[in-house]
Amino acid sequence: MDTETWTWAPDETVLDKPNPARIYDYLIGGYHNFEADRMVAEKMLALDPDMRLAAQAHRAFLRRMVNFLTGQGIDQFLDIGSGVPTVGNVHEVAQTANPAAHVVYVDIDPVAVTHSNAMLQDNPNATAIRADVRQPERILNHAEVKNLLDFSQPVGVLLLSVLHYVTDDEEAYSAVRTLRDALAPGGYVAISHASFEGIAHDIYERVSRLYAKSTAQNKMRSYAEIQQFFDGFELVEPGLVRTPLWRPEGPDDPFLDQPDRIMGFVGAGRKPQGTSFQ
Ligand code: SAM
Repeated sequence: MDTETWTWAPDETVLDKPNPARIYDYLIGGYHNFEADRMVAEKMLALDPDMRLAAQAHRAFLRRMVNFLTGQGIDQFLDIGSGVPTVGNVHEVAQTANPAAHVVYVDIDPVAVTHSNAMLQDNPNATAIRADVRQPERILNHAEVKNLLDFSQPVGVLLLSVLHYVTDDEEAYSAVRTLRDALAPGGYVAISHASFEGIAHDIYERVSRLYAKSTAQNKMRSYAEIQQFFDGFELVEPGLVRTPLWRPEGPDDPFLDQPDRIMGFVGAGRKPQGTSFQ
């Protein structure tokens, strides 16, 4: 391994254990990954050759989602499970639409956080913190979150490709409920989540086994289970759908004609006026 590459890896990084942030980084064509991550990613690609394009289609969805939210007047974003920065990061998309937009990135992976903060050092309106989505109160009470985000005003909470790493259902649903309760009416949650629906059982089993060897377990959920995350929200059009079908930009969007090739569902929910779940 090239020692140059290590300058962005904090000391506590476990280099020989595959890690979801860096597996994903490899799939979308990034450089912040190690041999262990690349080996698992290549095994996944052997099982499902669509996975690389699917990861890229997911990043395109992320851009569409942030553009949609900024179009709804959202100018504050809490991006949990934000990943290793790549092209088209949330702050880049949001601040292109609204240079005053504030963004806090949250990830459990120290490489993702270190690299995000290196990229954001000249950006006073965006930062990254290391925290666990399973501890949402810690996130909401974090000094950087309080400093940059005003929860008395609508915030867009992004939970993109992260809840399937929370294998305990109660922890996953409770995290989303806590975030929902903290939102002002007019705030949004955006979720993308891997699902076993529509995939061959043996591929599902083998992908799950590969993830089991990484630093995070993975739990794909059914459509109905994913829909439950939106309890207390109004799902915005077109609802909970396959990634390519969420507000596509044009006929050339990848997988638009074969959306079921993507193993997951995405959606956004708006917290209605006059609701209090406290
Ligand atoms: N959200 C980005 C996207 O959709 O392009 C990156 C998604 S990447 C597949 C999943 C990210 O979730 C990784 O960076 C991983 O470190 C992070 N993650 C996994 N478990 C987490 C947890 N319990 N708390 C916070 N982040 C977590």
